[in-house]
Amino acid sequence: MSTVPTHCDLLIHSGDVIDGTGAARAHLDVAVTGDRIVAVGDHLDLHVDATTKIDASGLIVAPGFIDAHTHDDRAVLSGPDMTPKVSQGVTSVVTGNCGASLAPFAGREPPPPMNLLGDASWYRFPTMREYMAAVEASPPALNLAPLVGHTALRAAAMDDVYRAATTAEITHMEVLLDEALEAGCIGMSTGLAYPPAVQAPTGEVVALASRLAAHGGIHTTHMRDEGAGVLDSIRETLEIGERAGVPVVISHHKCSGRESWGLSRETLAAIARARSRQSVDLDVYPYVASSTVLLTDWIAGAERVLVTWSAPHPECKGRDFESIRSEWGCGVEEAVERLSPAGAIYFKMDEEDLRRILRFQDAMIGSDGLPHDTFPHPRLWGTFPRVLGHYSRELGLFSLEEAVHRMTGVPARVFGLTGRGAVRPGAFADIVLFDPEQVADEADFSVPTRPARGIYQVIVNGMQVWRGGEWTGARPGRILRRDRAED
Ligand SMILES: [Zn+2]
Repeated sequence: MSTVPTHCDLLIHSGDVIDGTGAARAHLDVAVTGDRIVAVGDHLDLHVDATTKIDASGLIVAPGFIDAHTHDDRAVLSGPDMTPKVSQGVTSVVTGNCGASLAPFAGREPPPPMNLLGDASWYRFPTMREYMAAVEASPPALNLAPLVGHTALRAAAMDDVYRAATTAEITHMEVLLDEALEAGCIGMSTGLAYPPAVQAPTGEVVALASRLAAHGGIHTTHMRDEGAGVLDSIRETLEIGERAGVPVVISHHKCSGRESWGLSRETLAAIARARSRQSVDLDVYPYVASSTVLLTDWIAGAERVLVTWSAPHPECKGRDFESIRSEWGCGVEEAVERLSPAGAIYFKMDEEDLRRILRFQDAMIGSDGLPHDTFPHPRLWGTFPRVLGHYSRELGLFSLEEAVHRMTGVPARVFGLTGRGAVRPGAFADIVLFDPEQVADEADFSVPTRPARGIYQVIVNGMQVWRGGEWTGARPGRILRRDRAED
C-alpha cells in the first residue's frame, strides 16, 4: 500500500481501471504527480486535491499501449506528434524492427527495406548514440525503445550486403552492435527474409546475437520464411536463441500464402513447447494482409496486391497492382521494375490463422505500420482499436482485460521496460482513457489514414498529449533504454 497524498497534479476519477496485468477492471481513481502515478484508490477525489481533474465516467483507464513492432525510427523525428499512434492510445513504440534501423548507417542510399524509413538524406547517424541524441534534442509525443537492425549493421560494415559476411566484417558489426547496446538499445532485430540479409547464414546471426546476452538484450526477427517454410524458420529462430543464450521475439507472426494456411497450429505448438526451455515470444497485427516494399517474389501467391507508394509513379498509390500491370500491358517483373522503388500491401493470410495467433498465450500486439507510405496499410492507424473493438468486443476472442494485457503488461515484461505498461502506484504515468463500447478502428484498405474512434485522452510521462481528438502539442516522449539494473 502506498501513502495517499493530499495533493496531486492530475486526478483521473470515476473511471474503470484495467491495470494491464490481466486482472478484472475496478472502479478506481488514479492520481498522478510529475511523471508518475502516485496513488490508485477508491474515491481518492474525496480527500486528494488536484491541479487538473479528469472525469473518466463510463471510460476505461488503462496503461498506454506499447506498440511491440514499429518502423517509427524516423517518424519520431519527422512527425513528432506521432498522431497515427497516439490517436490509438499508444504511448511507447519499439523501433528498429525487421533488421532496419536508422542507425548506425550514414552517407549512402540504404538498401530496401531500409528505404521504408527514408532515403539517404535521413541516414545520417553513424552511431546509435548520435541517433538517440537527435531524438532527445527534439523529442516526440511518445516514448521509444530502440532496437538496432542487423541489416543496418551489414549495410554499415559491408561493401556488398548480398552475400555472407566475412570474419572481419562480423567483427566490425560486433563493434557497432556493442556501441548500440552500450547506448541503451534494447536488442537487435533481423530481417532474414529480405535480400540484404537473406545471405546471412545462421552462424552470422548467432555470433552477433551472442553479444546481446551481456547487455540483457533481446533478438527480434522477421524470419527467413513466413510461408511454406515457416516451421523451418521457427526452428532456426529457436536455435539462434538457444545458441546465443538470448530471448527471442518472432515478429508479426503469420502463415503467408495458401500453401501455408493452417500451419499456425504447428508453429504455435512448437513455440509453446520451446517455452519450457527458452524465452520466446511473438507479436501479431490484426489483419490478413501484410505490407512492405514491392518485390516480384512476394507477389506470387498473393490473393491481391495494392500499391502503397511508388517513387517514379506516385499516381499509382492505392491502386491494384494487377490493374496497373494490365493497363501497361507488361509482365509482373517489368511492372515491378517500372514502379520501384515502391511499397505494397499483400493479401496472403487466412483469418483462422490470424485469430489463432491473436489468441495464443501472451501474444503481443504490434502494428508494423509504415508511417512514410503515402497510401499505408490501415494497421498504421487502426491496430490497437481493432483488437479492442473488433476482436475483443465484437468477436469475443478474449476479454478486454486480456486484450489490454497483450498491449501493456506483456510487452513491458518482454522488452524489459521497467515501470511501463501498468496502472499502479510508482509506475510511469503513461495512460489511455477510452470508451469500451465505442472504441473501434476507422482506417481500412480504401481510407487508410482515418483516426480511430473512442480514444478520449492519452497521457505520456504525466502529460496530456491527446485530448478532444487532437494532439495537445506536448512532446514528453523519452528513450526507454534497457534497464541494466534489472539484469
Ligand atoms: Zn517485418
